[in-house]
Amino acid sequence: MNVLTHTTENKETGCLEWLHSVNSAGYGQLHLDGQHYLAHRLSFQQNVGEIPDGQLVRHLCHNKICVNPAHLAIGNHTDNYADSAEKHRNANAAKAQKVEILGVVYLGMRAAQKATGLSLSSLVKYTKDGIFDVQGYRNGCVLARRSAKI
Ligand SMILES: [Zn+2]
Repeated sequence: MNVLTHTTENKETGCLEWLHSVNSAGYGQLHLDGQHYLAHRLSFQQNVGEIPDGQLVRHLCHNKICVNPAHLAIGNHTDNYADSAEKHRNANAAKAQKVEILGVVYLGMRAAQKATGLSLSSLVKYTKDGIFDVQGYRNGCVLARRSAKI
């Protein structure tokens, strides 16, 4: 069996999200012929190639249940750390940003998140020049078959 046949596509991100069990760290997992596998590692092996000894398969998309081979890369712990540190810095900068949503200005993403119920990732994704793109967000929700919060 190929891991990719047990996924659903996230239309917003292109992630192929694992539909079955997830381990305590949040990664997709499965049992095959009595062996335990992490879904993203198996997907890499099945669709890209062997994983060098001692190397990690990293998620370039930061979505732990994603098994899309195009979102996976070989790396080591240092790469992984640098990547998440970078992401953290960007997220912190974004949180401090003013954002206008439907005519209301919030003094930071956190405040906007609390007031609207929008997720931080949606806020970051759809805010350009301090203005939240409500239409873009709603379209994204329709595509991802999610109900829009606003
Ligand atoms: Zn992905």
